[in-house]
Amino acid sequence: MPRSRVLTFIDRPSPNFNSRGSATVQFLVLHYTAMDTAEAAIQRLCDATIKDRVSAHYVIDEAGNIYRLVQNNQRAWHAGVSFWDGKTDLNSSSIGIEIANPGNIPYPAAQMEAVKALSKSLIAEFKIRPSYVVAHSDIAPDRKEDPGELFDWKGLSTSGIGVWPTPAKVDYDRSASWQDTDVAKFLSKLGFQSTVAPKVLITAFQRHFHQEVFATPATVGIADNETKARLACLVRRKAIADGIAASRKK
Ligand SMILES: [Zn+2]
Repeated sequence: MPRSRVLTFIDRPSPNFNSRGSATVQFLVLHYTAMDTAEAAIQRLCDATIKDRVSAHYVIDEAGNIYRLVQNNQRAWHAGVSFWDGKTDLNSSSIGIEIANPGNIPYPAAQMEAVKALSKSLIAEFKIRPSYVVAHSDIAPDRKEDPGELFDWKGLSTSGIGVWPTPAKVDYDRSASWQDTDVAKFLSKLGFQSTVAPKVLITAFQRHFHQEVFATPATVGIADNETKARLACLVRRKAIADGIAASRKK
């Protein structure tokens, strides 16, 4: 694998943005376009004549070309009503990347390499913490499914992007007795919005962190032992990371 890749952008400026105000970039939000072609998505994301105007900072097509629609210092309109780790209105505090995919087919390797290269660059520039690299479905679980259960979050994490659970014995032991209400509590600790129905939250968690369950639809939305242990692992590591972040601020 090449050690570093020079990022080149194709500028397709969108009129759909406004000011971040006093907010700064803390999050990276990943999406799929849910459209047939990248070009159709870009046109929609640049359309100022429709009622529900939307945009994103970047679109990545199937071949790995990166289109820049909105400048990083502006507020793009990709997240909508959103919540993560106590924060709302993530449009103000995030960079949004739309990845061209209708939603039900694997992401090509060239496209994923571009996702990794752009994500790494943004994470470094804005010092985005690993647990703040999120799916649209994490921050709007009752409305959104993207970038979906075919998106390779595990592969991203091996490139140092985002978090991925590797549960230890302590995580299996600790979570074995969790009931659904406990699972909901720990999903909230991880960042999910606690007012959303537990089954919806469990499904969103699995879409990101336990994608294997989608091979058996009846198991989706049910917190099995592996789902619980992966959640326990991420919550344990988040507590450590948050502690380190808090002590650095002192
Ligand atoms: Zn989305």
